[in-house]
Amino acid sequence: MTELSIEFFPPQTTEGVVKLKAEREKLACLRPEFFSVTYGAGGSTRERTFAIVREIAAAGFEAAPHLSCIGSTRAGIRDILTGFRAEGIRRVVALRGDLPSGMADPGELRYANELVEFIRAETGNAFRIIVAAYPEWHPQARTPAADLQNFARKAKAGADAAITQYFYNADAYFHFVDKARALGVEIPVIPGIMPIVSFSKLARFSDACGADIPRWMRKQFESHGDDTDAIHALGLEVVTRLCERLLSGGAPGLHFYSMNTAAPTLEICRRLGFVDGDTSRKQRNS
Ligand code: FAD
Repeated sequence: MTELSIEFFPPQTTEGVVKLKAEREKLACLRPEFFSVTYGAGGSTRERTFAIVREIAAAGFEAAPHLSCIGSTRAGIRDILTGFRAEGIRRVVALRGDLPSGMADPGELRYANELVEFIRAETGNAFRIIVAAYPEWHPQARTPAADLQNFARKAKAGADAAITQYFYNADAYFHFVDKARALGVEIPVIPGIMPIVSFSKLARFSDACGADIPRWMRKQFESHGDDTDAIHALGLEVVTRLCERLLSGGAPGLHFYSMNTAAPTLEICRRLGFVDGDTSRKQRNS
């Protein structure tokens, strides 16, 4: 069965929080395995992330807070983990994160593998630990081979699963998974899916995080200029096809970067035949 999960970021305003709740309710028909909530650089959204996670859990869904370690102390992370356990949280997305500008001290845990090791040492099997993976390589990676070795370290440290950075080239994903398997990494690698709503924003963001937008896609989106309807239609077509290729090639699930907006994720899932929930997901993959 295909596992779906959906990511939110913690809104900055009360209106944003109200809107997010409404969007989450629309996404509930997908019966996701969990909703995850991002964590701002250097812990800047600690309280807001936790508040959204609590709200999701109170509504009866599995919630997975993201947690980054850079710039933190072990005591600080321990404190956060204790808070998660007290709320009955059972999954965490464990990341290194990036130091916010102006912050120089990397803290006590410098890489995600150290965070995974710390969570396991402190809490045993209390959490299912999910880590990040980069089919097109992390922008700071010395070489692809070094990045793969570093990915393998996270699995060895006790990660249960990985979610990838988004990408639009299915071959990059399959290549990454093959290379990871060749290193003995057996954990599921769930593709991260970014629906396309605004192409100009996506292009800027992709340059920063090292995700490639293939030329054939870029040219088509650019040809639509400011025609948002045409951009939405093309975005749905391209991303649905990507998901189909990933699933037919054996991807164990899909993680949607929803950007706190339900419609694009819902429409892609409807086209994939997932909107009726578990039954259609099972049938499709049987
Ligand atoms: P790591 O796995 O530690 O890797 C970082 C870099 O260091 C890589 O280049 C790697 O090759 C190298 N490296 C790793 N381990 C070692 C080692 N032991 N020795 C030497 N080099 C090493 N950011 C946020 O701020 N908040 C979020 O909520 C968030 N959620 C994310 C969710 C997903 C699914 C993904 C894919 C990314 C997310 N990010 C988030 C972005 C992420 O924090 C950045 O990409 C960050 O730069 C790296 O984090 P990481 O956990 O992948 O780091």
